[in-house]
Order: sequence, then structure tokens, then C-alpha cells
Amino acid sequence: MSDNTLFLRLAAPMQSWGTSSRFQLRRTDAHPSKSGVLGLLLCAMGVGRRDSAQALEKLLPLVMGVRVDHPGKLEWDYHTAGAGVGIRSADGKIKSTASTMEYETLLSRRQYLCDASFLVALQGGAGTISDCVRALEDPVWPIFLGRKCCVPSETVFAGTGSFATISEALSSLPWHARPHDAVGLGGSANHELEIFVECPAGSALPEHAQLAYDAPRSFGYWDYGARWVVNGTVKVAVGKPPQLSSDSPGRRDPYGPDWSALRRDRLEHDNYLCVFCKSPAVDVHHLDYGDVRLDTLRSVCKICHDACTMLEYGNDMHRQRVDPSDPGQRPALRRQIDRLVADRRISRRRHLLEMGRGIAADYFDGLPGCWETRSR
Ligand SMILES: [Zn+2]
Repeated sequence: MSDNTLFLRLAAPMQSWGTSSRFQLRRTDAHPSKSGVLGLLLCAMGVGRRDSAQALEKLLPLVMGVRVDHPGKLEWDYHTAGAGVGIRSADGKIKSTASTMEYETLLSRRQYLCDASFLVALQGGAGTISDCVRALEDPVWPIFLGRKCCVPSETVFAGTGSFATISEALSSLPWHARPHDAVGLGGSANHELEIFVECPAGSALPEHAQLAYDAPRSFGYWDYGARWVVNGTVKVAVGKPPQLSSDSPGRRDPYGPDWSALRRDRLEHDNYLCVFCKSPAVDVHHLDYGDVRLDTLRSVCKICHDACTMLEYGNDMHRQRVDPSDPGQRPALRRQIDRLVADRRISRRRHLLEMGRGIAADYFDGLPGCWETRSR
């Protein structure tokens, strides 16, 4: 086989592609991360964390592109871990209840992309591509979409081909339409889909290229590099939707059919800057999920978005929304950001100390790509 491109179909009831969140609040990105996808391949190959650096030297140069066939819906899960087991919290201590001295449960909130479907293309040397194909056809360990609980609902290996560019590869396969999608299309043969394409090392950087810190060099000691990613669209043919056996009701997307365009309009309106701290904005915060329009959205950076969400959780689990552009809410938001930054710095120092003492080795026995194993 001399094909230079591998296709993966990533579809599941739940997926989670976290690249920045740690500890109590763990977000997913809106599309698969390179660290998650390469972690999935390492699982299929049966490469553990400690041996990952050598395997990643071969996999990391693969250029990745993602096509969003169905963006899915974001959901939060209220998550508990370690009840009665004793898990270290971010400050390095095992928390116990004062009255009974029993180990406390750690609480976290985890975000998932529900019902999403992506086409991922990986492009590179024919040898590496055929190694990946062999592994996906007969995986050593179970493969999952970002977290172990996110089991694929379709076969992940979606074929190979030879293409000049990643964009060409992503536009070559028809849209993975669903029964209810076809109704609204009116037989259109040109469906526009959003894509995220990695800029190959050394190539000229297009305008609006964004940095993604998800290029893993090792899962053994968590070493990530950055890569440039460009957001665009492709027009593709519409695949034949599967037939439903019964007349099931259609699903409504609470973000609305125009969410991608609305999100981009808001980011452009704010010059791609966070309305709170003027760092580059990568997220858009909702002021009202029941009334989504340009005026009820705010461009934010990841840390300001995390701070808004944590404040909202403190205020009746999201019912009172936080507006990062409201001067009245600045002091509370500022305090929350300070807490987040301090927490992350201390945790980082503790992590490095543990590595130095060799203690961390015992923590990393799990599968690649899964954060959960880390704190045990
Ligand atoms: Zn910000």
C-alpha cells in the first residue's frame, strides 16, 4: 500500500478532547485534538505511556485535518472520583472528613461533546500510514474518543487514499448525513462543512492561523509542543443517509443551525480578543442559552471562560450568567482568575517535583490519552 492519507471516523454518543483543562473543571475542545487522536493510535498499537516518546517521533509528523460532519452538543457531567480510596487533590494532600476521618470524594465537572461526528485525515509517509491501518484493524487495547468512557459508535478506520493536500482529502469523502439532515437539504449535492487543518512545519502561515498546544512528544511525562491550525470550510457531496426503521422524532440543536457562523461573527466583532483581558480569544461565552444571538455572546480566552463558568457554578449551577464585559462583575471575575492561575502554578510545581523524585512513574501506568489515570 502506498497511500499517503489515513481517514478516521470519530462518532460517538460522547467524546471529550481536552487540551487545557486540569483538575476540577475539564472542558472538551469543539473538535478532536492531535494528542487525543495520536493517543487513540497508540492504544491501537499497544504502546504504553513510558514507550510513547519513541512511537510519537514517527506519528507526530503526520499532518492532521479534521472535518466537522456534526458538531454535537456540549454537556457537563457532575463527576465524582475516589470515594473511600484516597486521591490526592491539587495541593498534594489526601482530603479526609473532619468528623470521621474517612477519605473524601473528589468532585469535578467534565464536559462532553454529545452526538458529534468528525472525519479526521492524517497525512504522511506510506510506511507510517500502513502501520496505523494494521493497528486500527486489529487494535491491541480498546480505543476511545478522548476519555475511556467515550466508546466509538462506528468503525474508526474509514479508509485510505492519496491526496496532494489535507483539504483535498477532507473534501473527497461525502458528508456523513443522518436521516433527519437529508430532509432540510432538498437534494443539495454541495454541503459546506467546517474544517481545521494543520499547517505543515515550514509552510507559509495563512492569516488567522491559530496555535494549538496539543502536539504530544511524550505521554510518559506530559510533554506537549504547539502546532498551527487554520479554520476553513470545504464543500462536499452529501452521502446517502441511513434509513430509520421507525418514525423517530427529529433532534434540535440548542446552539442553533447557524452557531458556527454566529460564533465567528462574534469573534470577528471582538477582533478575536477576550472581552475581559484582551488575550487572544478562542471561546465564545453564552449570556443566555435561551436567546443565542450576537448581543448575548462574548469572545473570551480559555482562562476567562473557565473563570466565568466556575463563578456560574457557584451561582445556582448556571442560572445566573456572568457577563465578562460587565464592569460590575470585574472584581469577582478577577478574583476567580487569580485563584485559577495560582492553582495551576502550584499544581505544575508539584507535578515537576514528583517527576524529580521518580514518584510520578507509578502514576502513569494507564493508557495514553486518559487524564483519569494520572491522579491515582
Ligand atoms: Zn481573557
